Amino acid sequence: MSKNKNVIVVGGGIIGLSTAYFLHKEGHRVTVLDKSGMNGGASHVNAGYITPSHIASLASPGMISKGIKYMFDSSSPFYMKPRLNADFIKWAWNFKKSSTRNKVEKAMPIIRDINLLSRTLYERIKDSGELGNFHFDKKGLLMVYKTQKARDQEAYVAKRAKELDLEVVELDSDGLRKVEPNIELNALGAFHYECDRHSTPTQFMERMIEFLSKQGVAIHKNEEVIDIESNGDNISTVITDKGSYKTDELVFSAGSWTSSLSKKLGIKLLLQAGKGYRINVESQTNISMPAILMESKMAVTPMDGFTRFSGTMEFSGINHKIRRERVEAIAMGAQKFYSGLKIPKEDINNAQCGLRPVTPDGLPYIGRTERYKNLVIATGHAMMGWSLGPATGKLITELVSEKKLSMDITPFVPERRF
Ligand SMILES: Cc1cc2nc3c(=O)[nH]c(=O)nc-3n(C[C@H](O)[C@H](O)[C@H](O)COP(=O)(O)OP(=O)(O)OC[C@H]3O[C@@H](n4cnc5c(N)ncnc54)[C@H](O)[C@@H]3O)c2cc1C
Repeated sequence: MSKNKNVIVVGGGIIGLSTAYFLHKEGHRVTVLDKSGMNGGASHVNAGYITPSHIASLASPGMISKGIKYMFDSSSPFYMKPRLNADFIKWAWNFKKSSTRNKVEKAMPIIRDINLLSRTLYERIKDSGELGNFHFDKKGLLMVYKTQKARDQEAYVAKRAKELDLEVVELDSDGLRKVEPNIELNALGAFHYECDRHSTPTQFMERMIEFLSKQGVAIHKNEEVIDIESNGDNISTVITDKGSYKTDELVFSAGSWTSSLSKKLGIKLLLQAGKGYRINVESQTNISMPAILMESKMAVTPMDGFTRFSGTMEFSGINHKIRRERVEAIAMGAQKFYSGLKIPKEDINNAQCGLRPVTPDGLPYIGRTERYKNLVIATGHAMMGWSLGPATGKLITELVSEKKLSMDITPFVPERRF
């Protein structure tokens, strides 16, 4: 066991809680501070996918031109609100720079490796029984297409996934009917990524909070970190709206808010919030397979007790404004694919949103900073934060404990050049 330390974790989303879990297991004394009630936001509204299949990062060729094309259509699945904000412009420029075939290819095995590490850790948490019998399903994920164009686009990713030893098979419409027998999918076929898993995020989050609290991890809800004091290259004190805490190590896992926190310490992190929405349908849908509906650019997940429809990537700054037209586009997108599916108005009215922390190159920030020897950053997981929670928590714990790392984290260095 390494030297026990006092560690403050700022942010109790999936990244902060997973970090607290592994730090605690390693024998450190952990305090999690979160400004919210820890019952909403990205880590609660997400699609629950654990995704080795997502080897192609968001920053891929053509994404910026899509964003520009969609800029004036606020119901489009990928929306960048036009704004003259220096941080956003710098981020968008670096996103464009990262969106090359070469960089996307280079990132693929890295994305696979960290996802597989995380999948194993989820399985270990499940097998340990510590969180009780939470929902964790091994049915894989369907990428469902209606058109040949979408099929050809995904065929390339599926081919690369196979080359990287991930399990994927193609299904025609008959094959699709066999795996999703109780509701008809209006589609040509699908790629079935058997390597993926899915879960019910809010259930897992609640169980994790309960487990950590019982284990003696201090979890402070509704407490906002407002300042940080340092002594040369050492962070000494974390100041909140309720008090102050001395710390040996500080972890920034504050999701989309991390860059405004790091700015207080003179550390510039390029990060933008990518808003997404979810609709929960509690009535019977007959949907049993998780599916990304390619032309509608949205996700469907059968969760424990309900079906979740989620999607959109909206770059409009940090806000939780629900844009009704975007939520309705998700409902319509699903209804186009599933025969007879009707998403109740009431469920559409109860939609919620969350902010994905998005880096310019689609890889997370995991690592120490150059300026402070006891500050670690754990954010920027974009569309894979749910999937990568446990791997990130484990890697951060290894850093804090000065142990051998489970994988090379050089590609995730926070202050990297794009
Ligand atoms: C609709 C949707 C679907 C998604 N589907 C998937 C999926 O299927 N699979 C997948 O892998 N990922 C998915 N994601 C992405 C994933 O949800 C996010 O990447 C992940 O939840 C980010 O977790 P986090 O802990 O970094 O941030 P958050 O969950 O945002 O947590 C950050 C926390 O920090 C707190 N905080 C911020 N500032 C402060 C402060 N100053 N003081 C104290 N606390 C602070 C906030 O209150 C917040 O609770 C989806 C996201 C969305 C929106």
